[in-house]
Amino acid sequence: MAFSEEVKDQAYRRSGGQCECTRSHYPHWGARCPTRLARQGAWEAHHKTAVSVGGHDGLSNCEVLCIPCHRQTDSYGR
Ligand SMILES: [Zn+2]
Ligand SMILES: [Zn+2]
Repeated sequence: MAFSEEVKDQAYRRSGGQCECTRSHYPHWGARCPTRLARQGAWEAHHKTAVSVGGHDGLSNCEVLCIPCHRQTDSYGR
């Protein structure tokens, strides 16, 4: 399953063009990730709750992440 383009557009607008990650990991340690993202640039729509454990493809489950942050999520690639 994947997010629709419409959901990704809405998520991107919500993000204001900035990675939405606030995880405690390198290099931002719990603050919001400062990485700026272009709509057609290098970012990924992450399922906050993985589809494998019942997460859905709606906006509230969609998180805009830069690629380095996405790679550090527990459910990356799942
Ligand atoms: Zn990030
Ligand atoms: Zn991060």
